[in-house]
Amino acid sequence: MDNRKRVLITGAAGFLGSHLCDRFIKEDFYVIGMDNLITGDLRNIDHLFKLPNFEFYQHDVSKFVHVPGELHYILHFASPASPIDYLKIPIQTLKVGSLGTHNLLGLARGKNARMLIASTSEVYGDPTVNPQPEEYWGNVNPVGPRGVYDEAKRFQEAITMAYHNFHGLETRIVRIFNTYGPRMRLNDGRVLPAFIGQALRGEPLTMFGDGSQTRSFCYVDDLVEGIYRLLFSDYVLPVNIGNPDEITIKEFGEEIIKLTGTDQKLVSKPLPVNDPKQRRPDITKAKQILGWEPKVSRSEGLKITYDYFKSLPAQEILHKDFTYYNKR
Ligand code: UDP
Repeated sequence: MDNRKRVLITGAAGFLGSHLCDRFIKEDFYVIGMDNLITGDLRNIDHLFKLPNFEFYQHDVSKFVHVPGELHYILHFASPASPIDYLKIPIQTLKVGSLGTHNLLGLARGKNARMLIASTSEVYGDPTVNPQPEEYWGNVNPVGPRGVYDEAKRFQEAITMAYHNFHGLETRIVRIFNTYGPRMRLNDGRVLPAFIGQALRGEPLTMFGDGSQTRSFCYVDDLVEGIYRLLFSDYVLPVNIGNPDEITIKEFGEEIIKLTGTDQKLVSKPLPVNDPKQRRPDITKAKQILGWEPKVSRSEGLKITYDYFKSLPAQEILHKDFTYYNKR
């Protein structure tokens, strides 16, 4: 009889999900991964299949979810998570955040499991306060291109709190700010893989707008540590996890040019609709409640991430099409 604690991780084959699988395996949990593989990639968790304490289900959590046996924890990380994805698969984005979350909350209730949901800084929309504390209610356009993600995530927080307040379910909510690291999809359209991919292909780096908009980038290991601490804390309200080191996209592009040694320049492209002008987490709560703060500097994290992208097969680096969503 295996008496390890059992954790279900949805979105297990994705960027964050796969790193969470690694962490929970390392901590000797029994890990059940689940993913429908629309944006996830089995190569991210290939190394886990040989382990006795890992199993995987290919399943869409927007449909009824059944997992045999006990469950102690559920981490819901299944969702498209880049602006290009929301544009390509808007309905799935809405469904996984709403119907998917509802199904998993029901499963958590049935199993008496603690449920942690992956929320996002997108709940703050295009914020009018900087940095963003958890008390800020946000500035979201529900009918804009990002609305399908932002509103699904806001609903996800609301239904999770309702299950906590009405059913007494143990719940945790992490608000994730821009995160990067190995296993990001090179073609997911996000700024970091876009810039590094362009540098590797010898193309100009596409800066949207004048590049004065800001983001704050957190290395994935720091994020995973924050999530791990939150799960085992007793705090039920949302907690921001991110790196407050804010930078303009123009400066970020210049850093990538320096890092990759490319002779390419930044070229300006139209700014997407409702692109947030500023984003930086206020992490006072994470510091106080979890004793957490990021440890990996951008220069260290970017180097590791660049080495990862460089090591990918050449045809993958050259192949820029966004065809992943046709896989099924
Ligand atoms: N961005 C850019 N060039 C790109 C992709 C993105 O300048 O090729 C900008 C985008 O307009 C945004 C920022 O980089 O201001 C971060 O975009 P990303 O898609 O990574 O995530 P977001 O934080 O907007 O969800």
